[in-house]
Amino acid sequence: MEKRWKFNKKCEKGIIKSVEKRAMTVKATMGMLHKQLNPDDNRSVIPLGHGDPSPFKCFHPPVAAVNAIVDALRSTRFNGYRYPTDFPSAKKAVAEYISRDLPYRLSESDVCITVGCNQAILATISSLSSPPGSNILLPMPTYPTYDACSAVSGVEVRHYNLLPTKEWEVDLHSVEALADDNTVAIVIINPGNPCGSVYTHQHLENVAKMAEKLGLLVIADEVYEHMTFGDTPFVRMGTFALKAPVLTIGSISKRWLVPGWRVGWLVTTDPNGILQNSELMERIQAFLDLASNPTTFIQGALPEILEKTKDEFFSNANNILRQDADIIYEKLEKKIPCISCPHKPQGSMFVMVKLDVSLLDDIEDDTEFCLKIAKEEKVMILPGSTLGMKNWLRITFALEPLVLQEGLERIEGFCKRHSKKV
Ligand SMILES: *Cc1c(COP(=O)(O)O)cnc(C)c1O
Repeated sequence: MEKRWKFNKKCEKGIIKSVEKRAMTVKATMGMLHKQLNPDDNRSVIPLGHGDPSPFKCFHPPVAAVNAIVDALRSTRFNGYRYPTDFPSAKKAVAEYISRDLPYRLSESDVCITVGCNQAILATISSLSSPPGSNILLPMPTYPTYDACSAVSGVEVRHYNLLPTKEWEVDLHSVEALADDNTVAIVIINPGNPCGSVYTHQHLENVAKMAEKLGLLVIADEVYEHMTFGDTPFVRMGTFALKAPVLTIGSISKRWLVPGWRVGWLVTTDPNGILQNSELMERIQAFLDLASNPTTFIQGALPEILEKTKDEFFSNANNILRQDADIIYEKLEKKIPCISCPHKPQGSMFVMVKLDVSLLDDIEDDTEFCLKIAKEEKVMILPGSTLGMKNWLRITFALEPLVLQEGLERIEGFCKRHSKKV
């Protein structure tokens, strides 16, 4: 008789199943698209699906950051096991870096160092699972890591709307309608992934007022901080933390263009001191004590990375992204009938565009569009369905402008070929 191992039982119910179902993550979708690629097509793949500009020369990291890592390694000071408390200088540097944009000052005790922003998300969301029955408010379209972390942690998710016709602002009516006595937090991603939105001072203040009214913690995902290239400057959610407590999370992944370096932070931006010494922060700290820490030499290098990177590096990157945003908006909004772009991106490296499948001949929905364009044009695009929005597409424009142009030409050709003949 075949031996039956207990660990190998099928999970019909419970957490694993719900993760499988809900977290059709970006990675899984991209894997599915990669399988479509035609090996006989000699053209290069155009990666518009996930945001990682690091392969492009124009998006290489600042020399100061690379030197900081090399110096940290050469010093031989960072070769041993280290506890998170062993890096007060990294925490202090993050506190000072975030404080630059706030009307009050943070200290190192406000800061936890994490393995990228994603670990900050997991630490926070998993710590919100008690009291049992708690729910959190996430944006729609979403950043699916939040949904996946909620699913593994048993936290109920409710999606509030972002409004495409109002520059993807938070629909505060839907926030109010969704919240109940068990709603503990709201996630605000600004600058926005996937919408490329940048919220005004006024809008963020309105969000804070709503959070105050409903008694919610604000989780401010600012992983794209200062990556803005439109008219609206970046404002930190923590600016309004006198109204409602704010947990600010971020990393060097996007602004320094090094998503593989895996270092980020989780910061209590909360001058009222509601979070410090709270049960929530104790749970987050316990989680992080158990989890792996970022590599020691990256933590050792972090103060220099934050302090010595020149403004010129950031403005160069923003200038290229501005150019890219212009290119993509011109093409998608004005030249391709089945695609419309309700809002020109002002920040981050993404845009959400709407697909009108009624103008296409043999394409049923966004997923089929993405599968076929991967197969026929070697262009990778994320179907909006992965983020909860059917018949939308999420496109990253953080590419070398010439490569982006080439990708857009291929999209245009594909859409022409598949459009209904009149
Ligand atoms: C990329 C991204 C993250 C993850 O950042 P890492 O530092 O790579 O873990 C978190 N939130 C949003 C909105 C992102 O786009």
